[in-house]
Amino acid sequence: MLLGEDLSVLLLLEILLRTGVVFLWLLFLLRMTGRRGLAQLSPLELAIVIALGSAAGDPMLYTEVPVLLAMLVLTGVVALQRGVSWLMNRSRPFENFVDGVPLELVRDGVIVDGGLRRARMSREDLFERLRPEGVEQLGQVRRVYLEQSGELSVFLLPADLVRPGLPIAPPWDVEAPHAGGLFGAVACQECGRVREQRSVPCECGELAVYPATIDPWQVSESCG
Ligand SMILES: [Zn+2]
Repeated sequence: MLLGEDLSVLLLLEILLRTGVVFLWLLFLLRMTGRRGLAQLSPLELAIVIALGSAAGDPMLYTEVPVLLAMLVLTGVVALQRGVSWLMNRSRPFENFVDGVPLELVRDGVIVDGGLRRARMSREDLFERLRPEGVEQLGQVRRVYLEQSGELSVFLLPADLVRPGLPIAPPWDVEAPHAGGLFGAVACQECGRVREQRSVPCECGELAVYPATIDPWQVSESCG
């Protein structure tokens, strides 16, 4: 069946409108679910793939779906993609909303307040992705950004500028860092900020600390 029965201009318009509403809602939801997925597609690209896929599949599978209507939906989705791209080129805030912006996660060895929440990442996620970059403690880190693509950009300090910081290797779940003695600088367990006195809470409000260290392996070896 190429055309359904009772086809009217009103119905065609309704289908266009429905396509628009569903597509934009799909794009919004994909944007809300966070960063780019495994396929490295942008939310807009992913929305198109899903919308085109489902609109193309129904008329192939179900004979009662009028082919012309499906073609209308497909055309509508492509037109929407063009429209969204056009708007993105003209409005920076709109582009930022659809595509996201890079997020700063770590600055000078300290986890940026609210950065992980905005990135929808846990601290453990961050550490897990820093370890392959050779980060053993946060004092090695100049900056970490979560790029729009979902990739992590890690900028390390040159060796002579590395300071003691929060140990992230070995993974805490495998081998908890040594709690340390009463002396020496400590790193906030929450944000990694280093301070001299463990009795005062961190600027972030957290009290729990690990000893700040240049070499986490040495700490675990010396007390193990
Ligand atoms: Zn802190």
